[in-house]
Amino acid sequence: MKLPLTNATVVIVGGGAGGLATAASLLRRRPNLNVTVIEPRDTHYYQPGWTFVGGGIFDQAKTARPMASILPPGAKWHQAAVTGFEPALNRLRIKGGTRVDYDVLVVAPGIELNWDGIEGLRDTLGQNGVTSNYAFELAPYTDRLVRDLRGGRALFTQPPMPIKCAGAPQKAMYLSCDRWRRTGRLSDIDVEFHSAGATLFGVEHFVPSLMRYIERYGIDLNLTSTLTAVDGQAKRARFSTKDADGTLRIVERDFEMLHVCPPQRAPGIIRESELADSAGWVEVDPGTLRHRRFGNIFGLGDACSAPNAKTAAAVRKQAPVVAENLLAVLDGCAPAAIYDGYGSCPLTVERGRVVLAEFGYGGKLMPSFPAWLIDGTKPSHLAWFLKERMLPPIYWKAMLKGHEWLAKPRKAEEAA
Ligand code: FAD
Repeated sequence: MKLPLTNATVVIVGGGAGGLATAASLLRRRPNLNVTVIEPRDTHYYQPGWTFVGGGIFDQAKTARPMASILPPGAKWHQAAVTGFEPALNRLRIKGGTRVDYDVLVVAPGIELNWDGIEGLRDTLGQNGVTSNYAFELAPYTDRLVRDLRGGRALFTQPPMPIKCAGAPQKAMYLSCDRWRRTGRLSDIDVEFHSAGATLFGVEHFVPSLMRYIERYGIDLNLTSTLTAVDGQAKRARFSTKDADGTLRIVERDFEMLHVCPPQRAPGIIRESELADSAGWVEVDPGTLRHRRFGNIFGLGDACSAPNAKTAAAVRKQAPVVAENLLAVLDGCAPAAIYDGYGSCPLTVERGRVVLAEFGYGGKLMPSFPAWLIDGTKPSHLAWFLKERMLPPIYWKAMLKGHEWLAKPRKAEEAA
């Protein structure tokens, strides 16, 4: 690439949270920039809202909007799926074999949900009491199951990391338990949490508050227990569990309701491309989010290799960094904006209260508010208000429009 480029073509792969937020941040800074988003779907989803759809709090329709209606003004939309990358030639391939050239590329295709990673799961999703808030179509089924369940066993599962929004499997469980508690049914329902992880939550500061809810709801906590197979007709789930001495055991459980968080991995188009690191993610510098080997490529969101919590909250901070650094590269300068690893997981522990986990690289606490207003390690009404009432408009009206609320990018010298 010859620098600087005044009439460059910027191509963005993925019209999800990361792709659209970056397009908006770029065009806010440079309205005449030539930006094309390549995205196959005609609907954009506000995925953080699906926890509330499953919890009977949001209408499903509130979490989806036509792609064309939210594309930032000035951005072009190429409705197609990317099938491969040719970074040495500054071009990519889309379905059907057409090639698209770019000067600078932003890669944000999200994370792949591997429903087939659990034997028998796909055949029974949406029936036989098997559900998941990880799919737009299924979240209303979670709501229905919770409303109708009168007794028996309810299982909630979490696969090995990484997953997007690591708290979402627990959120589904706490909101369900809270509804059963309020309607006097919790004592008739055996609730079990099966997590592949060795701890309840990856950042220890938040664990005591979460443990209090595990006890309050009488949840049987099974750590290092991974869902491996589901027989929907028989309503049986199979787990591989690790004993204290490391021995693996197979355990089977009957259920009336099963909420599954599917195993997740880097998207196939990335895993099989030259852009991938050894684990399959877009190999970026965790500070500048610039590709480590291809200087005119940036990555953000769930598909990138930065070791932050994979959340829309992380994307809110990443997009302005990518916008600043991409424009710097176009202008022939070194990228100077630095992403600090911020991610957030509002854990809905009961209706009306949230444990607002906000942290950066290495689990460092990064609260957005002073502790007297919201102490993120404790359940808080105000944090619930933020999650229910403020975060959706912040997503649609600020983040996707290039208004960088609490997300002004820091420069390298400020970060030092
Ligand atoms: P996405 O938003 O998933 O977008 C990826 C886009 O790329 C999609 O539109 C997809 O169609 C497109 N794409 C895929 N393949 C291709 C291809 N081959 N070519 C072109 N385009 C392609 N985050 C929070 O901050 N707080 C929360 O409370 C929260 N709760 C969550 C609860 C649930 C149940 C779920 C599922 C997620 C939650 N998240 C939460 C996570 C958040 O939604 C994601 O981290 C965020 O959407 C990541 O943005 P992204 O752009 O990387 O991926």
